[in-house]
Amino acid sequence: MFKKILVANRGEIACRVIKSAQDMGIKVVAVYSDADRYSPHTLMADEAIYIGESPAQSSYLDKEKIISAMKQTGAEAVHPGYGFLSENSDFAREVEKNNLVFIGPPSSAIDSMGDKISSKKIAEEAGVSIVPGFLGEISDENQAEKIAKDIGFPVLIKASAGGGGKGMRIVSSESELKQGLISSQNEAEKSFGDKRVFIEKYISNPRHIEIQVLADKFGNCVYLGERECSIQRRNQKVIEEAPSPFLDNQLRMKMGDQAVSLAKAVNYCSAGTVEFIVDGDKNFYFLEMNTRLQVEHPVTELVTGLDLVELMIKVAYGERLNLMQDEVKLKGWALESRIYAEDPYRNFLPSTGRLTKFRPPQVSDDEEKVIRNDCGVIEGGEISIYYDPMISKLCSWGKTREQAICYMQEALDNYQIEGIGQNIPFLHSVYRNIDFREGKISTAFIEENYPEGFKGETLSEEERNQLAALVGFAQHIKNIRNQTISGRMNTSERNTDGEYFIKFEDRWVAIKIQIGDHEHTVIVDDTQLKFVTSWKPSDALISASFNKKNIVANLRFQDEGITVEYRGFLDTVVVCNETEKELFKFIKEPEAIDTSKFLLCPMPGLLVSMSVKDGDFIEEGQILCSVEAMKMENVFRAEKKGKVKKVNVAAGDSLAVDDVIIEFE
Ligand code: ADP
Ligand code: ADP
Ligand code: MG
Repeated sequence: MFKKILVANRGEIACRVIKSAQDMGIKVVAVYSDADRYSPHTLMADEAIYIGESPAQSSYLDKEKIISAMKQTGAEAVHPGYGFLSENSDFAREVEKNNLVFIGPPSSAIDSMGDKISSKKIAEEAGVSIVPGFLGEISDENQAEKIAKDIGFPVLIKASAGGGGKGMRIVSSESELKQGLISSQNEAEKSFGDKRVFIEKYISNPRHIEIQVLADKFGNCVYLGERECSIQRRNQKVIEEAPSPFLDNQLRMKMGDQAVSLAKAVNYCSAGTVEFIVDGDKNFYFLEMNTRLQVEHPVTELVTGLDLVELMIKVAYGERLNLMQDEVKLKGWALESRIYAEDPYRNFLPSTGRLTKFRPPQVSDDEEKVIRNDCGVIEGGEISIYYDPMISKLCSWGKTREQAICYMQEALDNYQIEGIGQNIPFLHSVYRNIDFREGKISTAFIEENYPEGFKGETLSEEERNQLAALVGFAQHIKNIRNQTISGRMNTSERNTDGEYFIKFEDRWVAIKIQIGDHEHTVIVDDTQLKFVTSWKPSDALISASFNKKNIVANLRFQDEGITVEYRGFLDTVVVCNETEKELFKFIKEPEAIDTSKFLLCPMPGLLVSMSVKDGDFIEEGQILCSVEAMKMENVFRAEKKGKVKKVNVAAGDSLAVDDVIIEFE
């Protein structure tokens, strides 16, 4: 076996690979940029080599630096993780040329599958079912029109070099075709430096279901079941699961066999993923093959019991795959939630900054239940503008889908992240959705269920009463403690009653609290609730069991009240006595600030360009400036005609949320 390998990546996936390699007794070299000097992957590895400045171009994407780090440390092989250089065939070739090993497929397979037009041609020849369409480059509008009419609208224009959902345009009628073609070509040119596009049938509301394959250098290839990744936002996966609630054994076998045929057709070796979309009638169509370890591979590991990274390393070393297709058994159900640094309440704007608090839930692994959390950050660490906005991948496994969902919800309840925005409330919301729970999902799930964006969950009456009881209880205990200093001010907590008014979701409710020795009683309006809890004022999470049903909520005591978060519900609750409640009448609602005369920066980022200057007259729709954040460029346009009073920043400046970019007259 290899004695030493290098991991050419960062974040959770670097940590994930390091762990398996070290478990195999292999020494690991990490590489890091300025931003990652103290990151977990740098510290976990046996050796760490500095490879440059924070922007990926100067570090993680620099092939030469990585190869020279391998030579310098004597690493025999390199694992690229996902993203960065993982699907870069030039890098794989360069590694091979230097007599080093690329832990992944041969460069030729990356080439064949890297281009959507060529990969579809190969797939078709290998007997794989593909989306009806035209397998060639679209040269002009007339040709596009003819093809689109043949296929029938709606059609999808796609970039041949595409990835990450970029360069795709849905065209539902002839009149939109020209614009769709132009904008798809432009985006493709800009993102990939390759403007070739093609057209295929747009399958409405499909499911995204992908097959994991694994092959060795001796022509052995197996499929390890499927993953359903239909819960996507703007073509970015958010929740994945294995198996898919939609597949039966027969369909699984059919898709699996085709995936293996495709892998064999390109002499694939290592782990890879064949992506399909599946329509309501169970017709499935090949989308693309990802020639790398996939972000969501843990759900496959949880249902198969295999370690994909270990197997990748073994086959890269030249070992034979010791696994027959009929030995692959799927057991139980696994889910993955991608915890992203974004603000779900502000249209999922990317969020960056310090993790002032980062306490993931307890992980566990036994016969009944698994909780796994793949992450590459720690409390006090930073989510920077330079890299991917994923904080961690929280996975759960249970014997049934229902159990896996329940374990996931509990784990999310216990996940504490502060300092940056994160999408846990949104994830909770999906897990509470009836259609999701019944497995009725498609790639349109988020659009259909959140047409106006995410506004927070509404609670059932029972949950509302329980939360009101807990908030009142917590404030009561705090009040008692504040009045207690042993020997000087003695108030016993035991059998202390309290009466309060609570402003919960803008409605006042009266509550009565009786602290018991073990069980406490709270009467909310007319409903009596009894619960047990061991909460104390230093705890951020309150965990209480109401008649055996446990609920965990997050409480933050602030000047304006107690902010309560529970399963996607968020409110700032006021707890007070009768006199204080009366005084509330006199408090004025804060006046909304008129921000229409300012262009505020909606997210932390870097000002890439400024297209106007002081005194300029601007037209509605005119481009003002562009800000880059988390690998995406956001262009800001004038909302109305007017005059620029003052430009506050210049290209190259770093911006924080709500920084004033431009003032208008
Ligand atoms: P996957 O296809 O493995 O599920 P996604 O579709 O979420 O991954 O990823 C979208 C694209 O972004 C992929 O092409 C992936 O290679 C890239 N990507 C994901 N995570 C990172 C990362 N941490 N750094 C760089 N690129 C990434
Ligand atoms: P990328 O390389 O950007 O990941 P894919 O071809 O894998 O591009 O497609 C990404 C997502 O776009 C899919 O998961 C699916 O949701 C949607 N999609 C792609 N092709 C089609 C299609 N023909 N019809 C409907 N949706 C599609
Ligand atoms: Mg894809």
